[in-house]
Amino acid sequence: MAKAIHPHLDRILWNEDQISLRVSQIAAQILHDFPAPSPPPVFIGVATGAFLFLADLVRKIDLPITVDLVRAESYGSGTVSNGDPIISSHLKVDVNGSHVILVEDIVDTGHTLSKLIAHLKLKGASSVSVCTLLDKTVRRKVDIQLVGEGKFYQGFECPDYFVVGYGMDFAELYRNLPYIGVLKPEHYS
Ligand code: 5GP
Ligand code: MG
Ligand code: MG
Repeated sequence: MAKAIHPHLDRILWNEDQISLRVSQIAAQILHDFPAPSPPPVFIGVATGAFLFLADLVRKIDLPITVDLVRAESYGSGTVSNGDPIISSHLKVDVNGSHVILVEDIVDTGHTLSKLIAHLKLKGASSVSVCTLLDKTVRRKVDIQLVGEGKFYQGFECPDYFVVGYGMDFAELYRNLPYIGVLKPEHYS
């Protein structure tokens, strides 16, 4: 029997099977782009939203990779980015001279990624790729400038709704839903 959808959601956009399949496809693409024995990339997840995507993705990458997290905050508890995210938790892994893959839950205006990419460039990464599960391209405000031979991996094009689940929150809730869906407006206003 199908599991009931969370009552605060209008509908599901991507279910567990669809997410899992897409994560496998992205992992295969990354393995193809970073073939052994070239130095394996450093995976840097953007906390907290990317934690499930990062966990599922790296388990499909059979290379001696390193994994770290950064934290960027721009939202508080609203649904609209304030345009000037701050990096509030820094890296432990030294990325100098490494190929970095930044793992994001969703790219919206692009401000968060731009700030993080600039930060990694400053830290000496020889390339910065972006791997985002969702991409809300219609809301982009700044172009994403990759570094070096960096690549852009995208799971799904996301329609212009506020979505939650599979790591993504509203006011820190709903991150544990195994699927991604549209939050009913009455639950964020
Ligand atoms: P940006 O800086 O690109 O505008 O926003 C990036 C961050 O805002 C994402 O990493 C994510 O944490 C958050 N965000 C953007 N759109 C959504 C959305 O539809 N749902 C949720 N839960 N977070 C979002
Ligand atoms: Mg994020
Ligand atoms: Mg959030």
